[in-house]
Amino acid sequence: MTAANFRIERNPNPTSDADLAKAFENPGFGNYFTDHMAMIDWTLAEGWQDPRIVPYGPLTLNPANAVFHYGQEIFEGLKAYRHADGSVHTFRPERNAARLQASARRLALPELPTELFVEAIRQLVQVDERWVPPHGKQQSLYLRPFMIANEDFLGVRAAETATFMVIACPVGSYFSDPTRPVNIWLETEYSRAGRGGTGSAKCGGNYAASMLPQRIAYDKGCEQVLFLDSCSETYLEELGGMNVVLVLDDGTVITPKSDSILPGITRDSVLELCEQAGRKVERRQISIAEWREGVESGRVAEAIAIGTAAVISPIGELRAPDFTITNPPVTEESFSMRIRSLLTGIQNGIEPDTNNWLVKLV
Ligand SMILES: *Cc1c(COP(=O)(O)O)cnc(C)c1O
Repeated sequence: MTAANFRIERNPNPTSDADLAKAFENPGFGNYFTDHMAMIDWTLAEGWQDPRIVPYGPLTLNPANAVFHYGQEIFEGLKAYRHADGSVHTFRPERNAARLQASARRLALPELPTELFVEAIRQLVQVDERWVPPHGKQQSLYLRPFMIANEDFLGVRAAETATFMVIACPVGSYFSDPTRPVNIWLETEYSRAGRGGTGSAKCGGNYAASMLPQRIAYDKGCEQVLFLDSCSETYLEELGGMNVVLVLDDGTVITPKSDSILPGITRDSVLELCEQAGRKVERRQISIAEWREGVESGRVAEAIAIGTAAVISPIGELRAPDFTITNPPVTEESFSMRIRSLLTGIQNGIEPDTNNWLVKLV
């Protein structure tokens, strides 16, 4: 199956220029969706078929559809960026394609070939190009590929039909000021993932498991929740939807190593940039005591949260039931904020893309 197979059905009622301008004024995150969406169906017998771009709109699903009952769902998140010359680029999409394949294997869903994944994004962004926000405003078009079991059957087994889709929405900065620290609640009762579970797959079920702790975090005045390893409750895992990195006073950059965290593409890219900047990078177990004592002794210089949506955000306080870690303040000149500016510069075509991470879409 090739790109030429994509069928395009245009939306007869596209968003007006005035409404689009209004969306760009304050896009937020996940409020306004573009006029089209990409869809590809899969059946066990026929494989992937009928790739298409169709008007954005509700799906009609049978109440017995397996996805409502057993949660066989996986997703991805990446962005398209407008460059100064008007062209549109996305960032390492083949990595998202590979991760979706890994998630699919764990959730017993079909693996979508990388070319089809990238082509679905390309076709959607081309059709909805005017939805890619203008250059230079810290905005982008967020792309949300996802796959659901799509079979009207209540028997408990892997679905034999599935649907892959891509929807898109213009987004601003996830947190309004990128250097503003986020406070984090240290969850000590609930886990998001365990050994042999689905922690390293990007699936809705992991998020479902994190909603209650996330709500508790809000109640404690925190925006995000940090999970520990479920076996010993000693070592850092990650936030509900972002990875964690600490910068030490000698410049070393450390991040948790675990089979039950989501391998973030932003984190990998940041760590590669750190290595290219001559920094030592360590992927290893990090205990909460190491963080706590490191802040007290001055060993921990910066604590950051990393992911596609918010890129890099400084962690302010890490609050636990019986102690609070107050991380050193991060400024524009801090290493992590300079890496942030290099990464967003590459994505927006302001810094040279020496690693060939960008893929041109339009
Ligand atoms: C998506 C996600 C991340 C960040 O991954 P990126 O590829 O950097 O966007 C981190 N943790 C979880 C749980 C995620 O779902």
